[in-house]
Amino acid sequence: EPLTAVCRAELGRAAWKLFHTVFARFPDKPTADESTALQSYIHLFQRLYPCGECAAHFRTIIDRYPPQVSSRSVAAAWGCHVHNEVNKSLDKPIFDCSNIGDFYDCGCAKDEEGGKT
Ligand code: FAD
Repeated sequence: EPLTAVCRAELGRAAWKLFHTVFARFPDKPTADESTALQSYIHLFQRLYPCGECAAHFRTIIDRYPPQVSSRSVAAAWGCHVHNEVNKSLDKPIFDCSNIGDFYDCGCAKDEEGGKT
């Protein structure tokens, strides 16, 4: 059965937060394997997204704008763009993608000391 509007909005905010943070933490110079992993992640995120109508809608957006996974900045810009496509269709304000890097920094920089992406 369809999600309520409140549930859909709450899920959306949580999902977008994770989605953009994954891109913000993706390597600047990914290996081919890392790029393939991100590509798969995006397609599975779409396929398994637990709001059927949203997933179907997002599928058409991804078909039109195929995932860009060659670097952190390219992936983050792509993520911002497709979120804006959803914003447009819901009559929400367009986000300025030029400061996407700072916005999803999430204060995890200290983790870099551990050597992980
Ligand atoms: P959200 O869109 O949830 O954004 C959260 C925060 O992210 C914003 O407050 C802003 O700070 C920031 N942000 C906004 N735009 C961008 C951007 N372009 N890049 C980076 N950060 C940004 N809802 C529906 O009703 N119908 C749908 O078909 C639908 N499809 C969806 C598909 C997907 C894949 C996802 C993840 C969500 C979908 N949603 C859909 C939910 C919808 O996108 C919103 O999450 C929900 O309406 C709550 O909106 P919001 O105004 O709180 O901000």
